[in-house]
Amino acid sequence: MSSSITPSSGLESTQTHHDRHGLYPEAVSVEDFRHNLAAVQARIAAACQRVGRDPASVRLLPVSKTKPESNLRLAYAAGCRMLGENKVQEALGKWEAMQDLSDLQWSVIGHLQTNKARLVARFASEFQALDSLKLAEALDRRLQHEGRALDVFVQVNTSGEASKYGLAPENVPAFMHALPAFTALRVRGLMTLARFSSEAERVRECFVLLRTLRDRLRQRAPATIALDALSMGMSGDFEIAIEEGATVVRVGQAIFGARALPDSHYWPGETAQ
Ligand SMILES: *Cc1c(COP(=O)(O)O)cnc(C)c1O
Repeated sequence: MSSSITPSSGLESTQTHHDRHGLYPEAVSVEDFRHNLAAVQARIAAACQRVGRDPASVRLLPVSKTKPESNLRLAYAAGCRMLGENKVQEALGKWEAMQDLSDLQWSVIGHLQTNKARLVARFASEFQALDSLKLAEALDRRLQHEGRALDVFVQVNTSGEASKYGLAPENVPAFMHALPAFTALRVRGLMTLARFSSEAERVRECFVLLRTLRDRLRQRAPATIALDALSMGMSGDFEIAIEEGATVVRVGQAIFGARALPDSHYWPGETAQ
């Protein structure tokens, strides 16, 4: 695959930060969270500046998975009003424990089994890992039942790795075409996890693929589908993602600190750090 980046653009110097993986210090005070959020926002702004984008066009989604309720409350106190969680049961438990924070919203960003659709339909505002019509159907049915709507992102496997969830890029157009039937799902855009690699160019290819796919889909998307959002980039690679058009970056460790559980717990096939 060829990259859209020409050697003269200067972006090829942007590196991944996967070498910091597992080394971020744990945030244990509101001050820590304020500091980390400001640092990430500054990196977002710098990446935007390199490609002439408005930093306001990038939403930072803090990812709180594995972290205890007390840390999430600190993040809330530092200003976070939406948190990303990979596993629905963990997210549900935190939602139940934090009912007092009535303006705190939840984004489920990890693979979901169809038989757990009803859990997401109960409490989530956003679901970023839609990858089958069976799941879309189950979510829609439960949402209609609850009288709720849900913002959804279609997850695409841009790295071609068998271990990664998401639709193969070539299957996305037909999938998109079927979605307007599910009226409780508000389709916002596409989501991907890039290849976990220290080779920035190979990571960038995944993001370029997602953007190119979005642009092509936009030309023929059903009128009821908004295809603006690109959720791509995490602590180790969000700057590259922003250079390639990310409108949502999902950042955990750089805000909350390193996680005790290995990533293989969340991303099957990923080697434990
Ligand atoms: C954990 C997670 C992230 C955030 O990863 P960090 O390395 O903590 O920034 C992003 N996306 C998904 C789907 C995740 O599960």
